[in-house]
Amino acid sequence: MATIYDLHSHSAASDGTLTPSELVARAASAGVGVLALTDHDTTDGIEEAGNAALEYSICLVAGVEISVTWGGQVVHVVGLGINPGNEVLQEGLAGLRKFREWRAGEIGRRLQREGIEGAYEGASAHARGALISRTHFARFLVDQGYADDMRKVFKHYLTKGKPGHVAGEWADLADAIGWIRQAGGEAVIAHPARYSMTRSKLKRLLGEFREAGGVALEVVSSSHSRDEVFAMAKHALDHRLMASVGSDFHGPETPWAALGRLQPLPPTVTPIWSDWEPCEQAGTA
Ligand code: AMP
Ligand code: MN
Ligand code: MN
Ligand code: MN
Repeated sequence: MATIYDLHSHSAASDGTLTPSELVARAASAGVGVLALTDHDTTDGIEEAGNAALEYSICLVAGVEISVTWGGQVVHVVGLGINPGNEVLQEGLAGLRKFREWRAGEIGRRLQREGIEGAYEGASAHARGALISRTHFARFLVDQGYADDMRKVFKHYLTKGKPGHVAGEWADLADAIGWIRQAGGEAVIAHPARYSMTRSKLKRLLGEFREAGGVALEVVSSSHSRDEVFAMAKHALDHRLMASVGSDFHGPETPWAALGRLQPLPPTVTPIWSDWEPCEQAGTA
């Protein structure tokens, strides 16, 4: 049977709900052969996930999902096969986490002005010592009954123009790609169909991305429809980018983004793993 690749997932080291070990155990039981842990702006979960991967005999790809500001909006760049010990990468990520800390305080203050008390403390409690993401604020707000579900809480509180939204600059696109490359990794544009970009803006992004050393587009994502998968495969071909696949799993609470349950890649594209060394842990060729 073909190996199942899932090259985009989160643990409690960022905004996922499972510990890195729990994530790996769940991936193994879902039949995933090669899993990438790609937490937002941190590699803190990689060591634990790597140890668990040995135990469960699956292959763990060390990854990260870097927050980038490009063209006046946020774009996520996944790094795969990185060395987490690389100082250039770690310095870059540390800068982003510093911005996150300040932003979390600011989100808390803004929500307080709207009469919502204790949001910063509530989000921190959900983050349990890890970096604070808007997802943690969203979980607090849902708990407190401010919205019925995550989608609504983002829509009403945490997106542009809403009280809990704080604008700011994340990493520069070329810098993020540079950090990934210096750490020996490959850069991938995450969930490209989710940016609500015009075709021409997306083409400009992909051109700049490739120019700066990016190599792949996440053609398959849980958030992509079948039509979007084909559209993104076409973009990958047009820009001579390889294709990646990832569930963007954040936890069992969101069953529409399940580990390893991914649409097939169109046969026209080149999978990013086509030139990877075989993974010994997974026992696959
Ligand atoms: P941050 O990087 O802290 O700004 O948070 C972004 C994270 O929020 C993403 O990685 C998603 O996990 C989550 N997110 C963004 N938009 C939504 C949404 N509409 N519904 C649920 N989760 C969302
Ligand atoms: Mn997330
Ligand atoms: Mn993302
Ligand atoms: Mn993600």
